[in-house]
Amino acid sequence: MKFVDIHTHRSFAAENEIFVRNLSINEAETVLPKKLGGFYSVGIHPWDVGNVDETDFQKLEKLCHNEQVRLIGECGFDKNIDIPFETQLSVFEKHVAISENLKKPMIIHCVGYYNEVASLRKQVNPIQQWIIHGFRGKPQLAEQLLRAGFLLSFGEKYNQESVKVCPLEHLFVETDESKKAISEIYAEIAQLKECLINEIRAGFDLLSC
Ligand SMILES: [Zn+2]
Repeated sequence: MKFVDIHTHRSFAAENEIFVRNLSINEAETVLPKKLGGFYSVGIHPWDVGNVDETDFQKLEKLCHNEQVRLIGECGFDKNIDIPFETQLSVFEKHVAISENLKKPMIIHCVGYYNEVASLRKQVNPIQQWIIHGFRGKPQLAEQLLRAGFLLSFGEKYNQESVKVCPLEHLFVETDESKKAISEIYAEIAQLKECLINEIRAGFDLLSC
């Protein structure tokens, strides 16, 4: 069977993996024209929003039109960085507009600012799915976000109880920066969910693969 890795920074996939490789704008400009196959996400990471301008947004939008790009991001919010929330918000909103216009879901980095992102989602009421990647929060937070309509992606480190409360159809698996094989994380999650590995299907459905 194949495994969908919904968010990774790796540059190649094993034979049994389908991955969404995350690219910055600069990386995307080099990688996408090579048509290497596979799926990509392109976005401006919250750590990088300090010095972006209109040209970057234009580049971003153009790159996101590429058919290899299936998710918009990673983008989002981080409370541990020295960039004002308002700046982070304005860059995030650009991604939201691209996601809705191009009908491609969002892959979101969120550290702290969960209430803010949840109320923003309520306000925007998007058609596209919003996936919080690398979710490590507690089950109460997981439930709050799931109720608010988010999907959750779990990587190498996660709270086991949060995996348990997340319905399979809202649950994704990722490697992000980890060296662990995606198949291992699938196996752990299947055990926690008391299901078969091939019942973890949300990634396949989202990517229609
Ligand atoms: Zn990442």
